[in-house]
Amino acid sequence: PWAELSFCVAGTGVTGASAVRALHGLGARVVAIDGSADDNARRRAEELGALGVDVRLGDDETLPAGVDVLIASPGLQPTKPLFAAARAAGVPVWGDVELAWRLRPRVDPAPWLAITGTNGKTTTVRMLASILEASGKRVAAAGNVGTPVVDAVLARDGDGEPAYDVLALELSSFQLHWLPTWEESPKDDAGAPRMLAAAVLNIAPDHLDWHGSPEAYAADKGRIYGGCQIACVYNLADPQTEQLVHEAEVEEGCRAVGFGLGPPGLSNFGVVDDLLADRAFVADRHSTAAELATVGDVNPPAPHNVANALAAAALARAYGVPPVAVRDGLRAFRPDAHRIAHVATVAGVDYVDDSKATNGHAAAASLAAYRDIVWIAGGLAKGASFDDLVSGAKNRLRAVVLMGADRAVIRDALARHAPDVPVVEVAATDTGAMELVVGEAAALARPGDTVLLAPACASMDMYANYGKRGDAFADAVRGLGPAAG
Ligand code: ADP
Repeated sequence: PWAELSFCVAGTGVTGASAVRALHGLGARVVAIDGSADDNARRRAEELGALGVDVRLGDDETLPAGVDVLIASPGLQPTKPLFAAARAAGVPVWGDVELAWRLRPRVDPAPWLAITGTNGKTTTVRMLASILEASGKRVAAAGNVGTPVVDAVLARDGDGEPAYDVLALELSSFQLHWLPTWEESPKDDAGAPRMLAAAVLNIAPDHLDWHGSPEAYAADKGRIYGGCQIACVYNLADPQTEQLVHEAEVEEGCRAVGFGLGPPGLSNFGVVDDLLADRAFVADRHSTAAELATVGDVNPPAPHNVANALAAAALARAYGVPPVAVRDGLRAFRPDAHRIAHVATVAGVDYVDDSKATNGHAAAASLAAYRDIVWIAGGLAKGASFDDLVSGAKNRLRAVVLMGADRAVIRDALARHAPDVPVVEVAATDTGAMELVVGEAAALARPGDTVLLAPACASMDMYANYGKRGDAFADAVRGLGPAAG
């Protein structure tokens, strides 16, 4: 009875706006609120206002009167007074995923496959979508990046039927935090289970200011398993992810399925033989080694990315795709830009753009994929410590070029753990800074080395986003001279 309900949607960004449009379209009364009143917010308010929605800018703390449900945009901090006001008034708070779940078709709903983790979410969701497509299914890939889940769920084909057979979802810890009834009643009123299968890829410290503590961050991620039907997929190298599976309330018969770079086991997906050899890698539940694909089918075949592929394969197999679709889907997959992208080979040196490595856990993964590295790092450290990262990578570092606002934190960690590795700092922050950085890296590299931009930091001290930082790197590399390959 959507038309009888009154909603307040907090936040008018891409996700909030999708909720507003959906609820308004169903005839519900909607008030949209946003704490910002800048030009962007005004433009969005005009668009929503044109639909006839009541939009209030500059105040996202006052709960409008008469609201039945508050919808929280993912980024909004749970400590906001708005949420305390909702609790005091007995108004339930839903995130966009909760709303989407309640909006899904009741008859024969498409299964949901979901992925969360600190790093690798986008890549793994896109690998999963590629595998599902290779099996001939229509896939809606949605969530944290790209299409909002609400829009994906409501997409219809020309006959008014759902435009997809299966949903592949990337869920952030923020979105999972706002799944209230998910935890309280794993089954919804229609008695349907939640996710068909769900994966937590890894858990490393990130966004701790938002969640309040590492425990709360992990617990929010663990909500993805609640009510799971076929398989809870976890990382064998990350005991915290397995712990979350054990703590989850799942459907009877739901299995815990591990993935990892070691040999496959009875219910684990793993790698036959060693990673370097181009060997078959995925085993199925019942077979000792059902070969689904080879490491060479994974693009790029870096160890962390093989782990992503194993997780995607585990989810796809839980849904029931035929083995050959795993191989075909992985072969068809192309990584998004700025994720271990090979830019060029100049004078025998490979230049690789992993600008998306915006935290230490991500940078550690790409540093582990190369030997003899000239590492470009620095930017906004977000309060992180770099000791583990630097001590883990020191034997592979030819040299380091540091840039950006918080470069001193990395320099000090290098001085503690890798005093013999040459370090050059570039203090410039103007548009020409990346040329200086790449010039220094080129001077330090020897033929056969890899110059790796894996900053372990956010980009916003110097660039609009990680994409612009990666573009500046690629431009500077092209400026070095004739490239091969
Ligand atoms: P997310 O969507 O979680 O931010 P992406 O797929 O966009 O993840 O990858 C972000 C970065 O994280 C990549 O550039 C890479 O450096 C790193 N990364 C990807 N997969 C993993 C993994 N499984 N473990 C650690 N780091 C990873």
